[in-house]
Amino acid sequence: MMERREQDVDLIVIGAGPTGLTAACEARRLGLSVVIIDRKEHRSTFSKALVVHARTMEVMETMGVSERVRAAGASFDALNAHFGSSEAVRMDLRGLDWGDTRYPYWLSIPQYETERCLEEHLIALGGAVRWRTSLESLEQDQDSVSVTLRGPNGVVESLRAQWAIGCDGGGSATRRALGVAMERESLEETFVLADVHTTQALAEAEGHAWYGEGGLVLLVPMPEAGLFRLIAHMPERVEGERFTLDEAFLDGLILERAGFELGAHELAWTSQFDLHQGLAERYRVGRIFLAGDAAHVHSPVGGQGMNTGIQDAHNLLWKLALSRDLEPAAAELYLDSYQQERRATAKAMVQGTGRATRVLTSKQHFVGMLLRALGPYLASTQLLQEQLGRAVGMLDLVYQDSAVLQEMPAVGLGQPSPGSRLPNPVLAEATRLHDLLDPKGHTLFLFDGSPRKLTADGQLQRLDPRWEPILRDALAVPGNGVVLVRPDRCVVGCWSDLADLERFSPARAVLDTMGA
Ligand SMILES: Cc1cc2nc3c(=O)[nH]c(=O)nc-3n(C[C@H](O)[C@H](O)[C@H](O)COP(=O)(O)OP(=O)(O)OC[C@H]3O[C@@H](n4cnc5c(N)ncnc54)[C@H](O)[C@@H]3O)c2cc1C
Repeated sequence: MMERREQDVDLIVIGAGPTGLTAACEARRLGLSVVIIDRKEHRSTFSKALVVHARTMEVMETMGVSERVRAAGASFDALNAHFGSSEAVRMDLRGLDWGDTRYPYWLSIPQYETERCLEEHLIALGGAVRWRTSLESLEQDQDSVSVTLRGPNGVVESLRAQWAIGCDGGGSATRRALGVAMERESLEETFVLADVHTTQALAEAEGHAWYGEGGLVLLVPMPEAGLFRLIAHMPERVEGERFTLDEAFLDGLILERAGFELGAHELAWTSQFDLHQGLAERYRVGRIFLAGDAAHVHSPVGGQGMNTGIQDAHNLLWKLALSRDLEPAAAELYLDSYQQERRATAKAMVQGTGRATRVLTSKQHFVGMLLRALGPYLASTQLLQEQLGRAVGMLDLVYQDSAVLQEMPAVGLGQPSPGSRLPNPVLAEATRLHDLLDPKGHTLFLFDGSPRKLTADGQLQRLDPRWEPILRDALAVPGNGVVLVRPDRCVVGCWSDLADLERFSPARAVLDTMGA
């Protein structure tokens, strides 16, 4: 049966993995009409990405889905690192210096649960995924994007949208249709994964990593009692070889590398994959954008992939929503800043995870010996432990070279720098600085007289004067300074007064939409 019809929407999202679901949820929340499609029958049941990091939880807080996600996951309290025969080093993940985040932990949650929370949130916002619908073709002109979709029973449909986002994973059809290159490099390493129950009485919220002569193996706790994710590097694998990932194989692997009987049973999911990395040459071609795995693929070390995809979509959606209220030149600046900010972030992440993977999987005998000898010392250092907290949690991520951020902090003004996350100090018992922000638009803090804030709806509100010292300290704002904060809780800049800020045209354009 063939049928053709045409309709207009603001946005079409191709792919309903975590990135696409985030984009669709944010479109609905910010008042854009959206169609989201996925060629699968229904939501994925694979547990793939297991950790949601602190910055992603903060993003989810702005989306209104953090409580749902937190309830479905479990915090991951400690990682015990075993190097050869040395005594294990216990890294207390809850005890790290997390600073001022509300989410000072790694949240263990299988990807199908994260996707369930996002899809349920989308439905609560009045949206729905069109499953069993795939992208056939897409093209664009100056004014719109046209896509052809093939739905259930082969029904073909044309759709016109203001914008489209390809969230269609590593093999992205959107990316190919745009002719955007993504050079993939093989890291020439294979990993196996298994979600497995154990007869061992391992502490429920603690993970283990063994770095021995046979290779690296990890056991990471999952929210379900007694269930662990086993992750193992397979250094001896011959190309093309497939492992039979059954209980006996996993028991043998743990016995050989960790020296105990795992008692593997009730295998929930297994996978084996070769590591690749790559970055799309561009994230934007006119009205079409790429996000998530469609834009970057890399090693799973550090659990950054899904987190980065969710943050890509979040970064883009408020810019799309804002662009509707801006003059064309300012709108272009904001839309281009998506690539400037998120591609640079992914580039650093692809390089960083690639380097860490190469060290951890090195087949050079002396590298292994060195790591086993120095590992207990390295794992105890504050430097490494800090990396596991704020750095892996993406809280220290700073956007640079973005056209919509203040180029240089004004003389004499210190942290937080433009592009960094707004600090989140406690102001009163249940109130933090992030709670003062406009949930959908920019917020301007003014310090001429007692502190006030201007939100995107044009409301000017006095803040509790008792908060002034905390606010001034967190924002490093002197005198009559003003601080502009974006919807994604990034600092745009800190200026000595409003007139100074108005000289920066991207901020001026935003202030115009706020009626300032
Ligand atoms: C084994 C494994 C373990 C991982 N562990 C972690 C981890 O611990 N932490 C972490 O952060 N990341 C991890 N990742 C990475 C993480 O799973 C991905 O980064 C994440 O799924 C990317 O989300 P996405 O929405 O961008 O893409 P995907 O999840 O790939 O979703 C893309 C969607 O697009 C749909 N689609 C594709 N083509 C079309 C088309 N033509 N038309 C319509 N729909 C289409 C697909 O059906 C799919 O649903 C892991 C990945 C794997 C494989």
